[in-house]
Amino acid sequence: MSHYNALTVETFPIAPLLAAWRDRNPEHQQSRCTCTQGGCCASAESLARRVGVSHSTMHRRLRSGQITPDEADQWACIIGVPPHAVWRDDWGRSLYEPDLEVI
Ligand SMILES: [Zn+2]
Repeated sequence: MSHYNALTVETFPIAPLLAAWRDRNPEHQQSRCTCTQGGCCASAESLARRVGVSHSTMHRRLRSGQITPDEADQWACIIGVPPHAVWRDDWGRSLYEPDLEVI
C-alpha cells in the first residue's frame, strides 16, 4: 500500500460506500419499489443509476470489491458523504488530498 507511482491505480473498497448508501435509502421492495418510479432505494442497482454507471460496471465493481479513486470521490459526493468520512484514514493516505484543515 505504501508504494505507488503514476502507473499504479490505487483503489478503495466499495463496502463502506454501499453501507453509507443503504443507511440513506429505504430497503428495496419486491413490488412497487421507489426505484422503479424514479426514486432511490438501498439496492446496488439504484446506486448505479444514481452515480451514472451501467449495471455491468456496478457488478464488476461489486465482484472485485474495489472502486477507483475517481469513482470513490464522485460517488461519495453524489451520495452526500465526504470521501474522508467514508474511507477515513485510507482516504488521507491516498493520492487524493482531502480538503481538511489539519488541527
Ligand atoms: Zn428498489
